[in-house]
Amino acid sequence: MVISTKRTLFAGGVAALILGAGSGAAWASPEKPVIGFSIDDLRLERWTRDRDFFVEAAKTLGASVNVQSADASEERQIAQIETMIARGVDAIVIVPFNGKALGNVIAEAKRSGIKVVSYDRLILNADIDAYITFDNERVGELQAQGVLEAKPTGNYFLMGGAPTDNNSKILRQGQMKVLQPAIDAGKIKIVGSQFVPEWSATTALQIMEDALTANKNAIDGVVASNDAEAGGVVQALTAQNLAGKTAVSGQDADLAAVQRVKAGTQTVTVYKPLKEIATKAADLAVALVKGRTPQFNATLNNGKTDVPSIFLTPVLVTKQNWDIVVKDGFYTEAQINRK
Ligand code: BGC
Repeated sequence: MVISTKRTLFAGGVAALILGAGSGAAWASPEKPVIGFSIDDLRLERWTRDRDFFVEAAKTLGASVNVQSADASEERQIAQIETMIARGVDAIVIVPFNGKALGNVIAEAKRSGIKVVSYDRLILNADIDAYITFDNERVGELQAQGVLEAKPTGNYFLMGGAPTDNNSKILRQGQMKVLQPAIDAGKIKIVGSQFVPEWSATTALQIMEDALTANKNAIDGVVASNDAEAGGVVQALTAQNLAGKTAVSGQDADLAAVQRVKAGTQTVTVYKPLKEIATKAADLAVALVKGRTPQFNATLNNGKTDVPSIFLTPVLVTKQNWDIVVKDGFYTEAQINRK
């Protein structure tokens, strides 16, 4: 696989998708709510699936959705949310690019009576109504466990997520919970660690090339925080004939990653059933608009308020059980076999 673009490109330029809403005001009403879905970056494979499942679920609840992609720009995301507020949507569901940059625009939304839901990534220091995510600490634990089981001893490199994403920190906490005892026992040694801006596959590739050079190729395990990064890592390993020898983690069960896990060049990925989070998020947004109390199973302080939250369960995918993504309807077997 050759990564020629800034990141794993999937959906190309994504235009706004406006369902139900006219070109002017959204004419929102609690019976037919209008939801704004502000997504950091639809150029990454998983978010296009979140979008599709979310729009579908909202439709069955009688709601319409206005989707916008900020394409990894903090300013663009704020401007898009401002437009949603001006249109009078009932709720805004947000995957933040920069979790620390949305306090003001969210305060504006709240003043207009709009419900705000943080999706997958926690928005910090802002007055949000709810948060829904997969348990990111657990994702980090699974990533580290997968690599550690394959390589119980040796040199490790930690490829973190974007520094602007709160999940990156939580994933690292989960990873270290598993790795620290092995470090303390002298079994593994962390030879390098970096957080990768925008979760970029190309940057991960370069970081991995440099790390291999600096360590004379003696890297036994790479705890990579998602599948885009894992793609860059495996490309660097392949160039040194190390693919399948150095253990590598990821998350998202991206199609290329499941293919790599099946082929043995990526040790594990973490499957997060996106239909579940998207469907529950649509339920959540509509319930908030209709004044119903949703079912939460956690509370998280985001620096400003205690946020009622829903935590969902991630699943480890290995060479032995990769077909769970087929059994769960996430892919067809033909998709996985197609190169
Ligand atoms: C998500 C991952 C995703 C990453 C990059 C994280 O916040 O939890 O699923 O791969 O962002 O978009």
